[in-house]
Amino acid sequence: MTTRYRLHIDGEDRDAHDGGVLPVFDPCRGLAVAEVAAATPGDVEDAVAAAHRAFPAWAALRPSERGRWLQRLADALEAEAAAFAALESADTGKPLALCREIEIPRAVANLRFFAAAASTFASEAHHGEAGLNLTLRLPLGVVATISPWNLPLYLFTWKLAPALAAGNTVVAKPSEITPASASAFVQLARRIGLPRGVLNLVQGAGPVAGEALVRHPGVKAVSFTGSTAVGRRIGALCGEQLKKCSLELGGKNALLAGEDVDAAPVAELVLRSAFQNAGQICLCNSRLLVPRGRLEEWRFALATAIGDWVAGPPSDASARLGPLASQAQFDKVRGYLALARAEGGRVVAEGRIAASADPAGWFVAPVLLEGLGAASRCASEEIFGPVLSLHPYDDEAEAVALANATPYGLAATVLTHDLGRAQRLAAALDVGLVWVNTWMQRDLRTPFGGARQSGLGREGGWEAMRFFTEARNVCLGT
Ligand code: NAD
Repeated sequence: MTTRYRLHIDGEDRDAHDGGVLPVFDPCRGLAVAEVAAATPGDVEDAVAAAHRAFPAWAALRPSERGRWLQRLADALEAEAAAFAALESADTGKPLALCREIEIPRAVANLRFFAAAASTFASEAHHGEAGLNLTLRLPLGVVATISPWNLPLYLFTWKLAPALAAGNTVVAKPSEITPASASAFVQLARRIGLPRGVLNLVQGAGPVAGEALVRHPGVKAVSFTGSTAVGRRIGALCGEQLKKCSLELGGKNALLAGEDVDAAPVAELVLRSAFQNAGQICLCNSRLLVPRGRLEEWRFALATAIGDWVAGPPSDASARLGPLASQAQFDKVRGYLALARAEGGRVVAEGRIAASADPAGWFVAPVLLEGLGAASRCASEEIFGPVLSLHPYDDEAEAVALANATPYGLAATVLTHDLGRAQRLAAALDVGLVWVNTWMQRDLRTPFGGARQSGLGREGGWEAMRFFTEARNVCLGT
């Protein structure tokens, strides 16, 4: 029997009202292996209504009680971490180690972090100028979370945890491309007895289920992670209703290597930052800027190290990256590789596809390109695949100009031993996140998000708790 991932509304699993489903593919074989219920606007209506009914009791809990629920969710997920890692790996095709060592532990950490945040989040008091002011931070009501396929459970929990901690009830919409782990997660919630309606799951197509959720007047805020195009659409819909929204969008991140850095010792870090999860992380670096005088050294170091980057299925222990997530993503990345050649780019080094990979799977060998102009489409648009382009610079000012020469502003990485250079670059790079001599190290208390076309607003720590609450200032006259 075909596995079907269903909706979860008011504590119960359901099919869509009209019985509609979408196929779910195994990206390692390019084959439909399961189906996911495709929620209709009517299903969304039911989910929002259930969340509304659950809201008063959930919001009335003490923050520490909501924190305990999140801890229980974290405990339940941790107890089944191995099964969740296997499920996520099968659904996405990514290496099991990535799920086991990074993504599922991070989902547990998201829940634990915001469990603690529920009771440590503090509101402000101001006095001495005009009365005694107390700023209350009140839950908004029903909120929507919409997440992508690249880090399914990691990003699903990153949104729902602060939303619940702050006292809201949630209707969550994961990507239709990777529905499995969200479905399994709501089963955990039911098993631990999370009150019905507090966390509802609508699966299905973005333009139908996702958009119905965004448009619903009963939804007070939308937390979205995904592409810039869809983010713009959601931002416009929220704008019409003056609805709060947080948008975490695409990137075209640069890694800037300083004059003082030798290539060989950092080649592995550089390639990992470009090819982890087959380059399908918004934070992956896709442009490498190196001093012109060291270009040959960089080329050699990367060409040597890229041999370790093998694309293959999770069953092959030598595979460091899996396939691309969908036929559309596969076609898009291959289209950019063809375009790169037309734009004057040439492949200077390549990883490989494992012999174990099914030719019908959506595998792409990691590629290092050179010769692309900064303004070329391949060097300025988000490809979201295992593609890194190498660009020489003559001085620091040119390096900064190149790094900032795309419409995106999510993240940048700087490699240097010179503290002064690190500080200058961190100030000059027009992005939301800068890593120096590291990549993707995350302290969950820090603000996370992008500048320019990479987003609007910040997640993480108190930023997330503020997003999911309404401030009400109460002034006590003196
Ligand atoms: P996407 O925008 O296609 O879809 C994201 C989610 O939005 C999915 O759940 C989808 O069903 C839903 N959706 C699609 N159309 C919708 C609509 N009209 N209304 C409401 N919801 C809709 O993105 P994707 O392809 O799943 O993910 C890849 C993108 O996500 C990349 O651009 C990547 O950079 C970005 N991303 C950003 C971050 C970040 O934190 N900035 C993190 C991960 C991924």
